[in-house]
Amino acid sequence: MDRQLVGIPASPGIILGSVHHLLWEVPEVPQRIIDDDRVDDEIARFHTTLERARERLRKVRARAAGQAGEEEARIFDAQLFILEDQELIGRVEGLIRQNLGAESAFEITMLEWRHHFARHASPMMRERVGDITDVQIRVLSLLLGLPDHDPVDLPKGANAILVTHDLTPSLTVQLAREAIAAIATDAGTRVSHVAILARSLGIPAVVGLRTATQRLKGGERAILDGATGTLLIDPTDAEISTFQARSRRATALVAELAHMAHVEPVTRDGVRLTLRANVDLPEEVAAAVTSGADGVGLMRTEFLMVGRTTLPDEEEQYRAYRRVVEAFGRHPVVIRTFDIGGDKLPVGGHPTEANPFLGWRAIRMCLDEPDMFRVQLRALLRAAMHGDLRIMLPLIVSVAEVRRARELLELAAKELTERGTPHRASVPLGVMVETPAAAVAADTFAGEAEFFSVGTNDLTQYTLAVDRGNANIADRFTPLHPGVLRLIQRTVAVGAEHGIDVTVCGEMASQPLMACALIGLGVRQLSVSPRAVPLMKRLACAIAISDAERAAAHAITARTAADAERVLARHLAESAAGDPFLHDGLSDSS
Ligand code: PEP
Ligand code: MG
Repeated sequence: MDRQLVGIPASPGIILGSVHHLLWEVPEVPQRIIDDDRVDDEIARFHTTLERARERLRKVRARAAGQAGEEEARIFDAQLFILEDQELIGRVEGLIRQNLGAESAFEITMLEWRHHFARHASPMMRERVGDITDVQIRVLSLLLGLPDHDPVDLPKGANAILVTHDLTPSLTVQLAREAIAAIATDAGTRVSHVAILARSLGIPAVVGLRTATQRLKGGERAILDGATGTLLIDPTDAEISTFQARSRRATALVAELAHMAHVEPVTRDGVRLTLRANVDLPEEVAAAVTSGADGVGLMRTEFLMVGRTTLPDEEEQYRAYRRVVEAFGRHPVVIRTFDIGGDKLPVGGHPTEANPFLGWRAIRMCLDEPDMFRVQLRALLRAAMHGDLRIMLPLIVSVAEVRRARELLELAAKELTERGTPHRASVPLGVMVETPAAAVAADTFAGEAEFFSVGTNDLTQYTLAVDRGNANIADRFTPLHPGVLRLIQRTVAVGAEHGIDVTVCGEMASQPLMACALIGLGVRQLSVSPRAVPLMKRLACAIAISDAERAAAHAITARTAADAERVLARHLAESAAGDPFLHDGLSDSS
């Protein structure tokens, strides 16, 4: 077997560890009929198993409380409630009395529950489906005596490289973070939300390995390199020495870049760019501040719900937004309203949609659930008292959506006034340009939106009709395609014509070559992951706008994305000649 598996670089960092295989899937349950005289024993076995599962969950809960606080820990209460539900237990016992084996009886009962919750009118109840799945996996694995894949029991300091098919948000919170050194998945691409989350958590990751779970059993020694996207199994002594040298070099590069925090991103010809940070988890705020960012250009609020069973209430959201706004003092903080659906947080039974990326996602869901949406809007208006908070709407395709969102924002303000709660009456409302419709018709948003932010991850996905999370077509996901570049160019032109600020907050902005093209197309505001801020400052200082404009003019007339990349690489090599950060290493800290 080839010892090297090649996937997609998702989150930088290089780790030598041991493979921990995580199979978090509902197991196949063989049908088993039991004799009458076995019934009592089978019921007893079911009760013992339930108690083991509860014990485990209590352990996870306690750890979550210690690490992340009581609010995070509460997400496991829903699963404990399920395991203690007398109706559920009674139903399973009844089926065992009809001579079904405990695992079959439990599976049938969980299917009934799932069916009931998935069709529930309330989105809160539909969210329970994720918990039911987790409970199902936990209990069935114990009943069937399957090898223990539970992610919660990794020993501390295990330096585990977690290998799994896909990492759902609900799984990430269960992980013993101190034991997990790196993540490798079969599925996903650089812009899928697993990758974004891994970068936010600062865990090195390789995604899109396709067959890693089949090829690895667990227990193997391996080197995972998140910058090159490789997983090397059973490394030789020589390979381990190379790893150690690379690891030292990566650490040194990051340390050397740290001083960029105090440097202004001014180009060689004197243009001050605006460089903001993308914040996905509230705990990233400190890193974003120390990176020297000019505020937050994108806070993905849906990550507040990672692994939870309920939406955070107004008070909790208010505290989270306020924390970010206050951390940045007078700098703007752009907070995006919930972008749920697609590959993010399958809240409300989303996986049942045939085309989730074209489905009930983001602003569509929020406008259809105005009560839920107004909770968020009220929290935002309250947090806006504490700094320069701006609100951004995801996946906008039409002006009608912006108008309706504005109406709800006004209604939220009115509700707060009636309640006597301090808040700001109005805040700037921006539109994400992440569909071809929004880019082509950008002029229709003039007078409706206070700013534009180009989401190049989705813009690329929808323009090229390439699923951003599908590893099989990851090489077709090319943001430098002339179609994508022209839509960005159009958005910038409309912004300039109507005096609307245009930021780019998708992954393109975090990659030197592509950022160079964006700057050349006229973008002056970029929002990147906190870890990429120093690197992008370095880029800003290394280039001249005139050079970037020439590079972008060439790139946009290229016939293919590959040609555009070659053109940009040549120009960047000339501008930033000899800067090791912009050439090899720092994909390492992007
Ligand atoms: C984007 O689509 O580029 C973007 C920034 O939003 P997200 O990645 O959260 O969809
Ligand atoms: Mg998007």
